[in-house]
Amino acid sequence: MIVTRMDIDGAGSPNALVAKILKFEPSLKPPIPIEELALQLDIKEIRPLAADGFEGGLITDAARSDGFILVNRTAAPGRRRFTIGHELGHFLMTHHKPPPGGFQCSRADMARFSAKEQDGYGSMEVEANQFSGLILMPPPIVRRYMERFREPDLAHLGNVVDDFAVSKEVAARNYAQFHDQLTAVVVVKDGRILRIYQHPNFPRLGVEPGAKVPAHTLFHRAGHKLNVPSVVAEAGAEAWLQSDWGKPLGELCEQVYLQQNGFALIMLSAETAAEDDDDDADAERTSKQRFQDQQSRWRN
Ligand SMILES: [Zn+2]
Repeated sequence: MIVTRMDIDGAGSPNALVAKILKFEPSLKPPIPIEELALQLDIKEIRPLAADGFEGGLITDAARSDGFILVNRTAAPGRRRFTIGHELGHFLMTHHKPPPGGFQCSRADMARFSAKEQDGYGSMEVEANQFSGLILMPPPIVRRYMERFREPDLAHLGNVVDDFAVSKEVAARNYAQFHDQLTAVVVVKDGRILRIYQHPNFPRLGVEPGAKVPAHTLFHRAGHKLNVPSVVAEAGAEAWLQSDWGKPLGELCEQVYLQQNGFALIMLSAETAAEDDDDDADAERTSKQRFQDQQSRWRN
């Protein structure tokens, strides 16, 4: 690698930083070598952290001449990489002023993707998370990578996790955002919605975090197996989507993927508007045919 901190100087936002790093390292491929990149950008060492309750930390001086990253020594590989990305973000964003005692980041800090404007500490955590998410899965690389997946299917998440060496959560967020069909991934714990990741043009959902998974959805049907994605089935759009007066809801498909400890992922995929005026063979298929195709693929 050739990028130096001088090269990326002046890039103050997570997006600008990642764009500059990619400009100097155009041949970066997944999995992004995050440790090597941190060392290249003046992190002296990545050390194990044994303090309970913290996932990561950053030790640096006021002039930021160099830095030491601390990572929870029990963290799984995907999470460890996210933590390194997060602390590297704190280090590179020079407007991140370390709180007394340096940056000590908890698991809750690393799950924050929004903060109130006046919440300085929260905003730094959010930015560090954005940086980590972007550098581990840089949008131009993810866009190209995602072209291999045609119909959205949670079975693909395993490929994304392996190829980018990220956690399932980071993989799910990117999958929903960058799949070329309108896709949303709903993270569920004990029947309640925790988080929703969605394509920017996904139809307006009628559910939000904190709510129970709506009744009459595939999720509530019996027979789902742990750690095995279900078939992709037609879903009642009215259970998930907000209806605009007089406008018919488009078709929606649903897939359920039960995880350990009461967690589940639900994928929703909506008809894209573009498909309606597209006259290629794929657009001619009805959703019923698509459903049958997916089921037969599943059996093979
Ligand atoms: Zn932090």
